[in-house]
Amino acid sequence: MIESELLPHIAGYWDGRFQSVEGAATFEVLNPANGERLARVPELGGSHAEAAVAAADAAMAEPPDLPARAAMLRRIAATLTEHREELARIITLENGKPIGESRAEVEYSAAFYEDAAGRIAALAPQTLEARPRGFVWRVHHRPAGVAGLITPWNFPLGMLAKKLSGALAAGCSAVVKPAEKTPLSCLAFFTLLDRLGLPPGQCNLVFGDAPAIGDVFCKDRRVRVVSFTGSTPVGRLLSAQCAPHIKRIALELGGNAPFVVFADADLEHAAEQVLANKFRCAGQTCVCTNRVLVEASAQEAFTAAVATRVGALRVGSGLEPDNDVGPLIDAQSFAKVRGLVDDALSKGARAVVGGRPDASESRFFPPTVLTGITTDMACGREEIFGPVVPISTFEGEEEATIAANDTEYGLAAYIFTADNARAQRVAARLHFGHVGINTATGPTPEAPFGGMRQSGLGREGGMEGILEFIELQTIPEAPA
Ligand code: NAP
Repeated sequence: MIESELLPHIAGYWDGRFQSVEGAATFEVLNPANGERLARVPELGGSHAEAAVAAADAAMAEPPDLPARAAMLRRIAATLTEHREELARIITLENGKPIGESRAEVEYSAAFYEDAAGRIAALAPQTLEARPRGFVWRVHHRPAGVAGLITPWNFPLGMLAKKLSGALAAGCSAVVKPAEKTPLSCLAFFTLLDRLGLPPGQCNLVFGDAPAIGDVFCKDRRVRVVSFTGSTPVGRLLSAQCAPHIKRIALELGGNAPFVVFADADLEHAAEQVLANKFRCAGQTCVCTNRVLVEASAQEAFTAAVATRVGALRVGSGLEPDNDVGPLIDAQSFAKVRGLVDDALSKGARAVVGGRPDASESRFFPPTVLTGITTDMACGREEIFGPVVPISTFEGEEEATIAANDTEYGLAAYIFTADNARAQRVAARLHFGHVGINTATGPTPEAPFGGMRQSGLGREGGMEGILEFIELQTIPEAPA
């Protein structure tokens, strides 16, 4: 069982305190590196979500003013930074990622709150220059209302920070529903929020029966924004549930990122970037390279550069600082990745590194490089969510662009070439919300990030991430 001074309560949180729920069933949180039980967490449901929404709604009666919001966001950023080590340890224990990545996730989270604090001044009312209908008009940025925030397990604090920073900056109160596999980092974060003494109802936490909690978020009239990060099928379901209630919904969904390497690229640099991008969280991130498309004439050299590096990766417990790749989140995910690799190998792909794990293994998938990938292989079409680099080839810019766009997803894409004009040309034709050129870095707090097509709706980060939680209201202040 986990011991942490940041986990004095394993309970939901609403109305400014941890809530003990008599007789609630519990679910187990397991360490994916060894299967050990970390905690038993109460399985909350619709009635608890309603209580949390009621607390959040009561807090909306008096939203904090702009300076108070900025101060609150800065205090959250500071407390995250101060408790980085313990939060990182909890993330690694329940998610499995290497401890260095967990530390980076805590810092990344703090940066979102800090960045949002710096944008608060832009929420002051704006006076229109034009004087339509003989009035001086002002546009006010009103908080939209209670926000229901649903997050996945791959970045338990990072994905929450992207939503909660925007919601709090906008003046909204929030009810958070973290993933069942990783609620402990979020619980620890709420211990810190509790110590900050935020207004009761400002931030609330429920976990457990996801469909029941999601149903409350979608149907309860007091919840005005539902912001979800997770799989495309669940995003689609929430979107349908919100539709009859004309409710704002922000969706950060699955990806199928192409990594396009032209022959004139710096191949060693491109290989480094594949490693940095692909193996974070053992390949379980939405912006992970999912398909490497390399110009045929460079395939041999590029594959060799990638294979050498992948072969040197150290796999094991994330708590060991020297390990580069941790376990997959659970045996089901492991079986899915194994199935994708087996399918590719059975259809003619070649494993240059890794490939088939031992039959008894179900946690640590060996880092794998596959060549000869075609679109009839499932790993050429589906989100892999594992440490597998599938490589296929193309001839020329047109073929590369068509292949990169050949997916229903549209989250992140990467282009590597020495020809910037070509990179810009190809990027403009890609239907992806984030395109890296000679870099495979992902979202940052300063920039709006989000998906096109089946990867979602709305943006997180930047001013746009705050505006997701704002209603604009136009009022005449005085006759012109
Ligand atoms: P998931 O199964 O969709 O779960 C995500 C969250 O939704 C969890 O909190 C889950 O709760 C909850 N949920 C599940 N069913 C629900 C329902 N019927 N109503 C309301 N909530 C429900 O996704 P995941 O497997 O955790 O995450 C992996 C996916 O997230 C991948 O596709 C990845 O690409 C995507 N992702 C996207 C981004 C982005 O920025 N676009 C970022 C990270 C991840 P329980 O855990 O309790 O079931």
